[in-house]
Amino acid sequence: MMLLARSSLRLRLAPMASAAAPFSAAAEAAERAVRDGPRNDWTRPEIQAIYDSPLLDLLFHGAQVHRNVHKFREVQQCTLLSIKTGGCSEDCSYCPQSSRYDTGLKADRLMKKDAVLEAAKKAKEAGSTRFCMGAAWRETIGRKTNFNQILEYVKDIRGMGMEVCCTLGMLEKQQAEQLKTAGLTAYNHNLDTSREYYPNIITTRSYDDRLQTLQHVREAGISVCSGGIIGLGEAEEDRVGLLHTLATLPTHPESVPINALIAVKGTPLQDQKPVEIWEMIRMIASARIVMPKAMVRLSAGRVRFSMPEQALCFLAGANSIFAGEKLLTTANNDFDADQAMFKILGLIPKAPNFGDEEATSAASTESCEQAASM
Ligand code: SF4
Repeated sequence: MMLLARSSLRLRLAPMASAAAPFSAAAEAAERAVRDGPRNDWTRPEIQAIYDSPLLDLLFHGAQVHRNVHKFREVQQCTLLSIKTGGCSEDCSYCPQSSRYDTGLKADRLMKKDAVLEAAKKAKEAGSTRFCMGAAWRETIGRKTNFNQILEYVKDIRGMGMEVCCTLGMLEKQQAEQLKTAGLTAYNHNLDTSREYYPNIITTRSYDDRLQTLQHVREAGISVCSGGIIGLGEAEEDRVGLLHTLATLPTHPESVPINALIAVKGTPLQDQKPVEIWEMIRMIASARIVMPKAMVRLSAGRVRFSMPEQALCFLAGANSIFAGEKLLTTANNDFDADQAMFKILGLIPKAPNFGDEEATSAASTESCEQAASM
């Protein structure tokens, strides 16, 4: 199948050279991604042209890149647990955990170790290979006791043979290093939207603050998980702007969550209209083409999509999902429905990757609200 995909791309090369050939920007970029691998010198108009390609063409070429760069049947299953819920000082307009909005959510303290480890064990038994812990904090600075507890959770969950991810707000360099030493696989910190639209969504920390945290994570040697949310009232240019920022980082994020807003009553965005599946497909396929090696995660909002709609997202290039009944505080897909979907679509769970082949192969024999938007 891989050969077929490659040769069919080759056949398309000759006519592409002709100025009269009606090939889309998505076709051209996909060909280049397969031939040359990831690049981070994208211009915004280049990404806009890919994003604006006819939808079915974009979907097809997202699938081409996906099949050439990844094992296309493999889907990573991550479980996200809110280990410290609500009472957050930030003003993210989409988030029911902000203390500024009356959403009826009760604030809790950091969960105890036993409960967290039990949840991780259950997630592993249900097939998840990555366990992500989210805390509703602006940052971890000044939370030494809690942070040290989380370092222990990371160590123990990693010891269970799972990849471990955290989303705890802004991080300093030293904290990123401590998390790395504890065995953290990835850190989630989403950019949410374009730099231009961002002030409409959050005012309590800047876009550059977010990029700084991503840099600390990268420099500590932890995988970067960063994406955004669509349906915040942004223009399509803002979706392109988000992709452009991510795709021009010195190294692309290893994971790129694409979330569809779940409008929660009591938040400033409560009346936003739901994102349509076509918008998700366009965003996922564009992300797949401009960041070919990243795990593109079909994240929050998946619960609203039918199995055939999710199938189109996987075809477009999504290869990671959140499994489990909740995504922090909002509902997620039913476990049995996900199992049935994997069976019907012929998907298989991706084994954990610890960045060292021995551990990965041993594990493979065993069987940030809005999905970590902090
Ligand atoms: S998204 Fe994260 S940082 Fe923003 S209000 Fe919610 S919990 Fe706080």
